Amino acid sequence: MLWFTEAHTPNVNFSIKISRHLHSEKSEFQQIDVFDSPEFGRFFSLDSVVMVTEKDEFIYHEMITHVAMAVAPEIKRVLIVGGGDGGTARELARYKTLEKIDLVDIDRRVVEVCREYLPFTSCGLDDPRVSVFFEDGVAFVAGKENEYDFIIVDSTDPISVGEGLFSSAFYKSCHKALKPNGILVNQHESPYYEITSAAMKRAHHRIRESFPAANCHVYQAFIPTYQSGHWLFGFASKSREAGFDPLIFDAAAWNALGLETKYYNTALHRASFALPNYVKKDLA
Ligand code: SAM
Repeated sequence: MLWFTEAHTPNVNFSIKISRHLHSEKSEFQQIDVFDSPEFGRFFSLDSVVMVTEKDEFIYHEMITHVAMAVAPEIKRVLIVGGGDGGTARELARYKTLEKIDLVDIDRRVVEVCREYLPFTSCGLDDPRVSVFFEDGVAFVAGKENEYDFIIVDSTDPISVGEGLFSSAFYKSCHKALKPNGILVNQHESPYYEITSAAMKRAHHRIRESFPAANCHVYQAFIPTYQSGHWLFGFASKSREAGFDPLIFDAAAWNALGLETKYYNTALHRASFALPNYVKKDLA
């Protein structure tokens, strides 16, 4: 019997029974593996950390996309930093109103492997509005000014190649690359374990240094295969009125789009910003 095991902390392991190990390689940047499993279907890992599973990827990809799209339906130009599996691009491509979706991933092999083994997410890369760049996201964003309405940081954890995507310099570049009313959404780690909670606090602090603090919010989702299952996203708005509130949005207009989603809905949108007390305290 074969098991994939990811260390969620030095004291906690998370294991998935696997039926087939389909692919294994060390790219220039990271170890890439693809598996089939009875419980989560097909999934892939980078450096032995689960990235995308067939069974629960919809939660992450819907929540990293639809919250901001409901708040700011005027969004036209989007940048995805990371996200080489294509899942975030797939959700964005459902909006006919978008004009341009750029995606920059440091690792060409992630995109190639996902195209081969994970068609359920990589299909998002086929939309003609999507342009894929292979470069370090930190360098890619550094040269940009006033270009995007929405930047999504769909990164790995803040270790190895993903580290720069959690730095102050990167968040400052994102601020500059956004248009005046632009929005940044980032995967914000888990509040639960000490190691991911430290990353969450650091990211929140750095985003608040780069964006108006009153416009920096955090919302949550429940993702079974990520550390602790309790996951956060950051939501920062560039220069709308201070205290810009992502709970003020036209729910009827989003519902009228008729997008069928499995996790996101406009009531959950509101609820996802209601955080547990310990998380509010840690972010404060
Ligand atoms: N849903 C995932 C999660 O949180 O587990 C993230 C998915 S996506 C596969 C993460 C991507 O970020 C990877 O393909 C990786 O190559 C990319 N990445 C990591 N560091 C990067 C960097 N500095 N610039 C651009 N892309 C980067």
